[in-house]
Amino acid sequence: MTTGVIFDIKKYAIHDGPGIRTTVFMKGCPLNCWWCHNPESQKVAPEEILVRRKVSKEDFVEKHELVGREITTIDLMKEIKKDLLFYDESGGGVTFSGGEPFMQLDFLLELLQQSKNIDIHTAIDTSGYTSFSNFEKVFDQTDLFLYDLKIMDEDEHIKYTGVSNKIILKNLQSLAAITSKFRIRIPLIPGVTDTRKNLERISKFLSELKNIPRIDVLPYNEICEGKYERFQQKYELGKLEVQSDAKLDDISRYLIDEGFKVKLRG
Ligand code: SF4
Repeated sequence: MTTGVIFDIKKYAIHDGPGIRTTVFMKGCPLNCWWCHNPESQKVAPEEILVRRKVSKEDFVEKHELVGREITTIDLMKEIKKDLLFYDESGGGVTFSGGEPFMQLDFLLELLQQSKNIDIHTAIDTSGYTSFSNFEKVFDQTDLFLYDLKIMDEDEHIKYTGVSNKIILKNLQSLAAITSKFRIRIPLIPGVTDTRKNLERISKFLSELKNIPRIDVLPYNEICEGKYERFQQKYELGKLEVQSDAKLDDISRYLIDEGFKVKLRG
């Protein structure tokens, strides 16, 4: 029995893989994306964060909140198993997200194995920033990889995520060489990842893979800006304008015309 650290469990998720799913958010991520929706996910250990909440137009209260908790695979599987009926009825299952699930490999492996033992569909939502041998270790127990692709230009990738994209792209090529059980997720960050230049480079890269994936296009959600305010952290990207429906249609149409199956919001 292994213990890991999670910071949330989302029930009845419908955008994290097929059907109705339980999404488990694991703590720890090697990236530091400027737009991260879960900045509280990046450190592996549970942490106290000073949270500021608005209680009226002018008043705030501040209090320390513990983010993240240790949990055993047995207790987590009890939670996951509560919705077996929904998984069966909808073709759903469990998705391990984060953070970066590969940061807690032993914990992840045990959860995948226990899920497969009772025939639960499994998905991993990953940044791809890990050793390829880790993909090989989880491969047999994973039904679907949700693979994030953000920025093709390496310098830009380093600037906005803190790491090079070389290993991410290499792993994706290696994964696509052996399987089609993966989908690409592109988080559309205004002016950063949603530019025509970046999308053209993504399209070219994906079209050269051995297995051509489906693409989930994830519109920008400004809700994360408020989260940074609550956590009293600076949101480096400032105030961004969410993509209009016309812009989203334009992006989807472009990728469809390039020959991909595309789903808006996953
Ligand atoms: S890869 Fe995901 S979890 Fe990690 S920092 Fe980037 S957005 Fe956040």
